[in-house]
Amino acid sequence: MPEKVKYKRILLKLSGEILAGTKGYGIDLECIKKIALEIKGIHQLGVEIAIVVGGGNIFRGVSASAHEMEDRASADYMGMLATVINALALQSTLENVGVFTRVLSAIEMRDVAEPYIRRRAIRHIEKKRVVIFGAGTGNPFFTTDTAASLRAIEIRADIILKATKVDGVYTSDPMKDKSAKMFKTLSYLQLLEKRLAVMDATAVSLCMDNDVSIVVFNLNKPGNLKRIIKGESVGTLVKG
Ligand code: UDP
Repeated sequence: MPEKVKYKRILLKLSGEILAGTKGYGIDLECIKKIALEIKGIHQLGVEIAIVVGGGNIFRGVSASAHEMEDRASADYMGMLATVINALALQSTLENVGVFTRVLSAIEMRDVAEPYIRRRAIRHIEKKRVVIFGAGTGNPFFTTDTAASLRAIEIRADIILKATKVDGVYTSDPMKDKSAKMFKTLSYLQLLEKRLAVMDATAVSLCMDNDVSIVVFNLNKPGNLKRIIKGESVGTLVKG
């Protein structure tokens, strides 16, 4: 008999930082392989999976435009293209471990990815293909966290799982402050008011307005993804 799952359709947000592993920049293929195996583990439970990938490990528009680049929009397009590089790396790693995937890009580039069409994305997901969304929202001045909220709403995901390197949302940065405490649950408003550096306000507001919950969790702990899918309390749950 198939194992019981709490969430049937999920939107997993993988930041560029997660894909960089311990290197801190670029793509760590060993690390992506570990992530691919975790994803395969929940795919085998029949969970429908869509992924939004970040690009900060390669290029981040805000910081680039704050330094040399005058034109924020151009810097942002570079950031969006970076997410497509990550999407392709994740796609080939997932397919290497036997998981069928499709990359859908918000910026049209037919030679490397399908264009993003909502109905097509849902069809792939229903057919149990792992859908990887590249190029964020396709618009400058946004982030891939906002893309994650938007796509989760569009595909009617049960939950957004935001993968991080720490166990959840803390009162302050646990990497720097040893006395930082982790929240088990938070409301969207608390997240916005406390200005906790988890997701930007646009991303959180979209989730709040459309009632999509978010679990912030540590993907580097093996089995965490499966535990969440099975309904265990892992990380921080953000809801209304
Ligand atoms: N970006 C954008 N519009 C989007 C998504 C991303 O302009 O809809 C750009 C933006 O410059 C951002 C970069 O792509 O800094 C990489 O995305 P992000 O910083 O969200 O990646 P992550 O922090 O998850 O690695």
